[in-house]
Amino acid sequence: MPTSAIDRPADLRHLPDEPGPCRWAEVLAPKGRVAFELEQGETLRIVDLDGQQVADFICFDKNNMADKISHSTTVMLKGNINLTTGDYIYSVDAWRMLEITRDTVGRHDILAGSCCPGLNRMRYGSEAEHQPNCRENLAAVMAPYGVKLTEIPYTFNIFMNVPVGPNGDIGVIAPISKPGDSIDLKAERDLVVAISNCPQERNVCNGFKATRLGLLIYAGQPS
Ligand SMILES: [Zn+2]
Repeated sequence: MPTSAIDRPADLRHLPDEPGPCRWAEVLAPKGRVAFELEQGETLRIVDLDGQQVADFICFDKNNMADKISHSTTVMLKGNINLTTGDYIYSVDAWRMLEITRDTVGRHDILAGSCCPGLNRMRYGSEAEHQPNCRENLAAVMAPYGVKLTEIPYTFNIFMNVPVGPNGDIGVIAPISKPGDSIDLKAERDLVVAISNCPQERNVCNGFKATRLGLLIYAGQPS
């Protein structure tokens, strides 16, 4: 078990299969949001601390912020919509951005996008339009990097459960992630990452309850 010089939050001190020395660890509060840089070779671990909590995830090439996570490129290059250990997340320009190096859940979503003012309005009425939502969360944390709301890409929805039927129907059902489940994402480039801890409690995507996420960054191992 690697040890760390940093003082980790109690819930993030004893984790299995850590890929290297931990340089940063934080508990993202329910409905919280954050942006940070992830260097090539570093691994980001996202922990579903309380179970059934979706992390809406985006990333940008730190050295070319116009290039960012792309669902269509990722799905086209894999030829499948189910992403798990060994799969890559690609950019618009088809560069590898991240590799999924460990995944205790195996059920994530790359189709459904994120909760946003428009969907809130359509689903729950105009008074709900600007209730906390992932799209505005991501725009808020990316603003210091010069990224506007209209430039926020569609999200990779970690732990979100969107089954696809044989006729193409999709649904949103409760995540299967349990407390302590996690995913590791190893950076293939220098990235700026943003995460919205999905605040949606009006539907089942988070089990109707917004809860915490654990975030850790591990240094790359010398090869
Ligand atoms: Zn959301």
